Amino acid sequence: MYPSEHIIIMGAGPVGLTLAHQAALQGVNVTVLESEAQVSRQLRASTFHPPTLDLLAPSGITQVLIDKGRITPSWQIRLHEGGEHVTFDLSVLRDDTGHPYRLQCEQLVLSEELERRLLTLPQVTMLRGVTVESVGQVLNRAWVTLAGSGERLECDYLVGCDGAHSIVRKAIGASFEGSVYPDINLLVTTPFDFDGLLPDLAGVNYIWQDSGNYSLLHLPNLWRISLHPTSGQPLEAEAQPKRIQRRLQELFPDAGPFDLAEIRPYRVHKRLASRWRLNRLLIAGDAAHLNNPKGGMGMNGGIHDAFCLADLLVQRLNGAPDAVLDGYERQRLPVVRDDIIGQADKNHSRMQLQGLEQRRQSLAELQALADDPQRAYDYLRRTSMLEGLAKAKALA
Ligand SMILES: Cc1cc2nc3c(=O)[nH]c(=O)nc-3n(C[C@H](O)[C@H](O)[C@H](O)COP(=O)(O)OP(=O)(O)OC[C@H]3O[C@@H](n4cnc5c(N)ncnc54)[C@H](O)[C@@H]3O)c2cc1C
Repeated sequence: MYPSEHIIIMGAGPVGLTLAHQAALQGVNVTVLESEAQVSRQLRASTFHPPTLDLLAPSGITQVLIDKGRITPSWQIRLHEGGEHVTFDLSVLRDDTGHPYRLQCEQLVLSEELERRLLTLPQVTMLRGVTVESVGQVLNRAWVTLAGSGERLECDYLVGCDGAHSIVRKAIGASFEGSVYPDINLLVTTPFDFDGLLPDLAGVNYIWQDSGNYSLLHLPNLWRISLHPTSGQPLEAEAQPKRIQRRLQELFPDAGPFDLAEIRPYRVHKRLASRWRLNRLLIAGDAAHLNNPKGGMGMNGGIHDAFCLADLLVQRLNGAPDAVLDGYERQRLPVVRDDIIGQADKNHSRMQLQGLEQRRQSLAELQALADDPQRAYDYLRRTSMLEGLAKAKALA
């Protein structure tokens, strides 16, 4: 359909693959360049929010995720000691979304399904094991050079979905202002069944505890625990299996030992690129923004970028004026700043409250919110990312 027009997408993470799929389904010739030989098997994002499922539904991908994931109709905030908790029921969103729940499913399921489909599309070239060394643009073309061979590829538009260390972002001349959260994050998975241990658990639980908050997310065959130790030890020391085993035994003295399937220590940034486009170079996903994972919005936000950008690129390649692409940053940047980075920051701060009295007070306020139908609805629309997408639409 576009014999000469062509976009290159750098990076085959969930965002690059979603963008490639959406653009290719609308007839665009796409080349995807990815340095890794295969889809990353690292456990990263595992939460899909309602509007992301709505966006992915028409192509049938949502059904694949549902088949391989676990539907979570509610989530909760609770005190470890005593077990008092507030539960938020996502079914109140049923008039706003076809998927009024969170879906817990590893991001690699999405990536594998997208890549499987892309490989069947004639307008897509998927090159793995290829690292882009440099990028740029001249007149009406963008270009990349490949490490090793030095080969140069040209395209109409180059989209950097190349993650947090994006070289496309640098070529755009964007700053990446922000900061690193001081706390350590340890992501641990275990087949241990927490349902039998803590009464009335939901599928997603954020839990206050004096010597380090934690969260428990129920994936299809595993529980995913995020630990935030406060001992002041370095990340590597905290990530030792013996130490994690000890921490879990402290939390759950009557259980264990725990079978630890995976341990991933990491630090979290909040950062926003100052601009998302320079003529024929654009960025999306982690290349453009990073946020605290509390609330599970990073990958979802990147997928929303990809849907927005795919539509605008298709319009542009169909003859719309160049200015149509300005709509991308106009729609997405304020929403990412306020509704993703800002909301994730609030989610994180709430969990930092110290002292049982303050936490009980906060829990009582949250219970009042959950009991008020209008306030609960507004809050869940916002934290489920429906509000942000509606705002982006209004900015179109
Ligand atoms: C531990 C952890 C837990 C998380 N949990 C959640 C969650 O629950 N919910 C949520 O929404 N988000 C979560 N996130 C965030 C989420 O994983 C990211 O937002 C998401 O992976 C971003 O996707 P992306 O495609 O933009 O970037 P990436 O997934 O980082 O993909 C970038 C790709 O670009 C490739 N690349 C980079 N440079 C080059 C180059 N020069 N040449 C060729 N290829 C290149 C890389 O190899 C990589 O495959 C989590 C992240 C972490 C680390």
